[in-house]
Amino acid sequence: MRYELIEIERFPAQVEPGVLYYSQEFKMCAHRCACGCGDVIQLPVDNQNYRIAAGAKGVTLRPSIGNWNICDAHYYITDGGVEWMPKWSAEQVAAGRAAEDARRERFFDRKVIWRKYIGMWLARLFSGFRRR
Ligand SMILES: [Zn+2]
Repeated sequence: MRYELIEIERFPAQVEPGVLYYSQEFKMCAHRCACGCGDVIQLPVDNQNYRIAAGAKGVTLRPSIGNWNICDAHYYITDGGVEWMPKWSAEQVAAGRAAEDARRERFFDRKVIWRKYIGMWLARLFSGFRRR
């Protein structure tokens, strides 16, 4: 996910993913959580809290965002991109496990296909013998 900085006067009813909304007037910013959980994260932007910098490559938000009570996502927004921090959420752990399972399934699929090819080859070989 990448974020584009959009300066607004009032927060929109619909917070689009991939947009970091910033209101100078309210000293607040809002964006949808980078993990894809759909949670809208609103953060105060001032000297004591978050700082927003609009660079040539994209928007940077400091310090890191931790969505602990919702999904445990923890990341920086740097140059418009998401830099994940080490702590993994339960869903990231689950996603990691799902990826691992998918890899394992693909491996077994390949073995099954391989066995099928050998089977076909043998069948062809034997039918060839039979024909002779
Ligand atoms: Zn999230």
